[in-house]
Amino acid sequence: MTAGRPSPDNEQRPLLLVTNDDGVYAPGLLELRRALEPVGEVAILAPEHNWSAAGHTKTMHKPLRVNEAQLSDGSPALVASGTPSDCVALALLGILDRQPDLVLSGINLGANVGHDLTYSGTVAAAMEAVIWGVPGLAISLDTFEPASFAVAARFAAHLADHVLRERLPYPLLLNVNVPARPAERIAGVRITRLGRRIYRDALVTRRDPRGRPYYWIGGEPPSGHAEPGTDIGALAEGHISVTPVRLDLTDHEQIARLESWALTFPLA
Ligand code: MN
Repeated sequence: MTAGRPSPDNEQRPLLLVTNDDGVYAPGLLELRRALEPVGEVAILAPEHNWSAAGHTKTMHKPLRVNEAQLSDGSPALVASGTPSDCVALALLGILDRQPDLVLSGINLGANVGHDLTYSGTVAAAMEAVIWGVPGLAISLDTFEPASFAVAARFAAHLADHVLRERLPYPLLLNVNVPARPAERIAGVRITRLGRRIYRDALVTRRDPRGRPYYWIGGEPPSGHAEPGTDIGALAEGHISVTPVRLDLTDHEQIARLESWALTFPLA
């Protein structure tokens, strides 16, 4: 199996692994691959179907298959039966002949901002890369409607070039969200913190043909608090948002406060 793998004569160029959570045939992945060609050699290993909102899922109880595939422009890719983060683990554990220098996940259809990061398969793939010590970028487009990925792809390639030169400290990933508008209407780039999503989920209860209830988590797409300094605020003002995200979820400021509780065990 050679399709989608790095070729030996290209070993001087950085190797970029591209994956996503919308599935290997999603248009955002193809656009990202094309934009990255000037930056380095691109290998693709992505899931065979859509895993949006699958989070950081690891497949541990069934085998994983990896097959060769062709994207719609005829370019080779590898497609895996597992999740986005499985794809990254497979690549870093040796499916590719050499280690990627950078993992890019996307371009996702739909922003990944605020608490979305805890659901996002797109971001989970970048997290998996960071766990293995490889820098990870997650790139998302702020629309759920079919749209052009060109602006997001161009910016992702620009940022990838920076990351390869500057490196990222462990355990950091960059979460990038791009407004769905033409380049001339992008206001600029903001380095942001995570904002606060407003989820509008609603429980939909229906009955199956045997009269038993089933449930669907439905409702309107999420909105958010467009506070200055946040990813949601940046998108609302037409800026590209770049958020540095640590895999260390510890709230360091709270350690002293919890210590003041003087918790002990065994109990008196
Ligand atoms: Mn998705």
